[in-house]
Parts: sequence; C-alpha cells; structure tokens
Amino acid sequence: MKIFEPHAHMASRVTDDYERMALAGIVAICEPAFWQGQPRTSVGTFVDYFDLLLGFERYRASQYGIHHVCTIALNPKEANDGRVNQAVIEVLPRYLEKDGVVAVGEVGFDDQTATEEKFFRLQIELAARHELPLLVHLPHRDKVKGLERTLAIVREMKVPPERVLIDHNTEETVPQVVETGHYIGFSIYPDTKMTEERVGTIFERYGVERMIINSATDWGRSDPLKVPRTVMHLRARGFPGRRSRRSSGRTRSRSSRRRAGSMPRSSSSRSRSTAARGKGIRSSAADSAGR
Ligand SMILES: [Zn+2]
Repeated sequence: MKIFEPHAHMASRVTDDYERMALAGIVAICEPAFWQGQPRTSVGTFVDYFDLLLGFERYRASQYGIHHVCTIALNPKEANDGRVNQAVIEVLPRYLEKDGVVAVGEVGFDDQTATEEKFFRLQIELAARHELPLLVHLPHRDKVKGLERTLAIVREMKVPPERVLIDHNTEETVPQVVETGHYIGFSIYPDTKMTEERVGTIFERYGVERMIINSATDWGRSDPLKVPRTVMHLRARGFPGRRSRRSSGRTRSRSSRRRAGSMPRSSSSRSRSTAARGKGIRSSAADSAGR
C-alpha cells in the first residue's frame, strides 16, 4: 500500500521519523508552511524556513525514497504581526513559482482578526495569480464561526470549490463543509483535534469522497504514523467499500465507492479488509494502549 501524508511539519521532526514513515508505506509527504512555536521577528527567518522546506527537507525525505512537496504562505497566526506580515507577502511570489510548491497554505484564521482576514484575502489573490490551490487552516477556537467566515470569503472571491482544502475539521464543521465541494481534511492527533475512531465514525456517516486524513505532526506531542494507523483502523471497520449511512437506501453512490486519498486502490483490498476485521480491531486497540 502506498500512502500520501498530506500535512506534516517535518522540519520539527527527526530524521528517524522519515525512516519510520517510509517503513509504514508513506511514499510522499506535503509539508505546509506554518508558524514555528514562537513568533519570528524578521522576514529573513521566513525566507530561511521556506528554503529549508524546499531544500533540506526534500533531501532528508529523498534518502528514504519519500517524495517531499510543500505549501508556502504567511500563516494565520503571524499574519497579525506587523513586524513581518507585509514583508512575507512580498517574498511569496518567487516561492509560488517553484516546482516543489503545490499550494498556498496554511492560510485562513487563527484569532479571527480583521488583519488575518486582510492577509487571507491577499493570499487568495496570490493563489489565483499563480494558479495554485489553497490549504486552509481552521482555527482551533470558535471553529464553526471561523469556518463560516472562511466559506463566505472563498465563495465571495469565486475560488472554485475543488481548489480548496479545508483542514482540521471536526464533527461540528463537517456538515457544512460536505455541502461546499471543498476537500475536507482531518488531523489525527494524539491528544487534541481528532482520533482514528472519531474520523471512522464520520466516514461511516458521510462517506470518504473528498475526505483527506493527515497527522499534522509537528513539534508538539504528535505522531508521524497517524495516517497509516488510521488506515489500519479504517480497514478494521470495513473500509474501503463500506457504504456510508448517507448513501445506503439509494443506488450506491460514487462517494461510497471512492476511497480516501490514502486508502489502498487494489480491488482485492476489500477482501483483505474483511479478513482483517477481527484481527485489526485487536491490533489497533493494542497499538493505542501502547502509546
Ligand atoms: Zn499544520
């Protein structure tokens, strides 16, 4: 099975993590630009960070056969910082033209200030100009309000829905996002955000079309193997091929047949997952007890 990890802050991780990820079947990683745990005080540190994502991280990943790409942006938190915000916007265009840059992100809201909105809009314009999709970070506080503001801005600025990935969703935000046509991200994180079990329940209800799982692994207590662990958990629950409650009772919809980005593609995977159902639950429980 080949796994794509679509959201991992590898600059905060050790090289052994790349090795463990490769051993678990991860063949590609997308590293979104974000803040670094403490505020940066000059644009030069952003430039060095962007170069690190495009240079050293790509090299570290390649040592384990992992293809590393990144997204580049002024993150929502530091968008509030007048020491750096405008200067970072000015260096973005030269990065958005580089080969390893696959989207503008993470953008969106943190504290949901007017300044964040101003820089969010500026970066939506940059994404359109450079023909890149958007990776949107939902705030961890007042999430639903942040989502509603995000959706309104994206709609008003006429961004095609399929060019937007809304990340860090929870049970509270999914009902609104599934109606929009955007991609729907879930960060599976040990203590906060989302768990394997909860995301499994969401997929049973809504299906897996446009659903993307990631570890969002960073400098906090997080787990770079959360995507393979979640795949294992989902298999134990009968994915892929499991009908969502949404689609049952109707003609089987495309959503129930499509698989999450990281699910195996072979047609034999369903019989494997059925066989794994009994065993998988145990191994998954043993696994979580071990951490
Ligand atoms: Zn992130």
